[in-house]
Amino acid sequence: NTFEGDDSGDKRPRQTPGVLYSKVSPTPVAEPRLLAWSEDLARELGVQKPSTPEEMAILGGNLVTDSMQPYAACYAGHQFGHWAGQLGDGRAITLGEWETASGKTWELQLKGAGPTPYSRRADGRAVLRSSVREYLMSEAMYYLGVPTTRALSLVSTGDQVLRDMFYNGNAAYEPGAIVMRVAPSFLRFGNYEMLAARKEVEHLRKLVGWTIERYYPHLQGEDKVLAWFKEVVERTASLMVAWQRVGFVHGVMNTDNMSVLGLSIDYGPFSFLDNYDPNFTPNTTDLPGRRYAFGQQPGIAYWNLGCLASALAPLFPDTKALVSVLEEYSDLYGQKYLTMMGHKLGLDQVKGNDVNLIVDLEEVLATLQPDMTIFYQLLIDLPLDLKDAQQVASHFADSFYTAPDAAEKEALYSFIQRYTARITENTCSREISRKRMRESNPRFILRNYLLHQAIEELEKGEDQLFRELQEAIKAPYSDKSDAFLVKRPAWANQKAGCSMLSCSS
Ligand code: AMP
Ligand code: MG
Ligand code: MG
Repeated sequence: NTFEGDDSGDKRPRQTPGVLYSKVSPTPVAEPRLLAWSEDLARELGVQKPSTPEEMAILGGNLVTDSMQPYAACYAGHQFGHWAGQLGDGRAITLGEWETASGKTWELQLKGAGPTPYSRRADGRAVLRSSVREYLMSEAMYYLGVPTTRALSLVSTGDQVLRDMFYNGNAAYEPGAIVMRVAPSFLRFGNYEMLAARKEVEHLRKLVGWTIERYYPHLQGEDKVLAWFKEVVERTASLMVAWQRVGFVHGVMNTDNMSVLGLSIDYGPFSFLDNYDPNFTPNTTDLPGRRYAFGQQPGIAYWNLGCLASALAPLFPDTKALVSVLEEYSDLYGQKYLTMMGHKLGLDQVKGNDVNLIVDLEEVLATLQPDMTIFYQLLIDLPLDLKDAQQVASHFADSFYTAPDAAEKEALYSFIQRYTARITENTCSREISRKRMRESNPRFILRNYLLHQAIEELEKGEDQLFRELQEAIKAPYSDKSDAFLVKRPAWANQKAGCSMLSCSS
């Protein structure tokens, strides 16, 4: 990193004009204890499970070795559609970069390791609740095949953390925890927006150049910056398709939470869909607007890419090309989305009338609101000789939260008739079609109420459900964890933390 850092050691929240990051050390905790360790990721990184107090001290932020250069990044962003000015790593501290034997580099970050100059009205700490959620969910997304940041370790700190009034209205102590999260880079749209807002065009040019050299080395030649933006657009479109495929709702798609590598980043008040409701947002702060609801995500990604394009505009003498690349998003997303839906439905290819079939399915799903995951599993096993609306409704019965009325049954039957006819036209075998469906439709998803239960148990010192979930996330397309293949139970509908959460989650 060639940019000048702020190494005054001053950790008070403040504006840091002219810098891209601040040197800052983690604040020590009472007693770091390892709660979870990601074996697969550790193997990929080539690191051993911590076995000494020194190694534990690193994961808890109590030890900074000579080879580390801890810092907090400065970025800005648009939050809920409004310019929010300077933000930055308020509760994450990068320890440094780790190079594996194969030459791949990974940024290692401690989340919850204490205040930085970018901690806004809060302490830079994370509670066990939010740390367990980030740890398990980011790993779950990895095994689902969704681009994501990863988590190596989950450590309890032995400290009690006062949750701030700013976020949830009532202050309370909760056990603290720290996650070591890992990604090639945590650079966000907001890093570029910060420099553009400050009109630091040379810094902007340098950061973009460095991003390309470092993370997009395959891009060469004249119009490198444009080619890079094009790839960011493509990756973001792919990410949205991946989220829509598995029913993931991020909950806070602010531009500071948009990875420039196209990764899922910053796990807060996220949720999977249980019942298929395109208007569902898991974020209590997102009401009543529902800006970040499930069905809004692809459009919001486009809006966010627009913010990135605006930030990059000073690098282009003529922004026409930049704008036209941005405008490719819609077609790109549409194509990728149809291909993905074709796979979910087991079509050999998406052709002719298939677009209507897909649109109709979405309408039926949004009206009946069955459990998304269970519905698609039942679709894989659909007998192709169902005779009437009643038989079809019975086949999908296990997915319904409320029994469909006669008109809804007819709508579903009508879709299934057309779907059956279409499946019969496939040039591939039924077995190949079903295999494709099994690979595109997860059978296990990490539901919010399960996370909630696991966290409640952990707070009491029991880790059985947590361990079970840690295993289940590793094989989401198999039937290994069918014990969890059930609808969200009624008790979880209204209970705080089981469905909706606040931003500080
Ligand atoms: P988020 O909504 O999680 O993306 O966070 C928005 C901003 O608030 C970022 O700059 C975060 O670093 C900061 N922030 C969130 N939680 C905390 C916390 N507990 N302590 C300090 N800063 C925080
Ligand atoms: Mg964030
Ligand atoms: Mg966050």
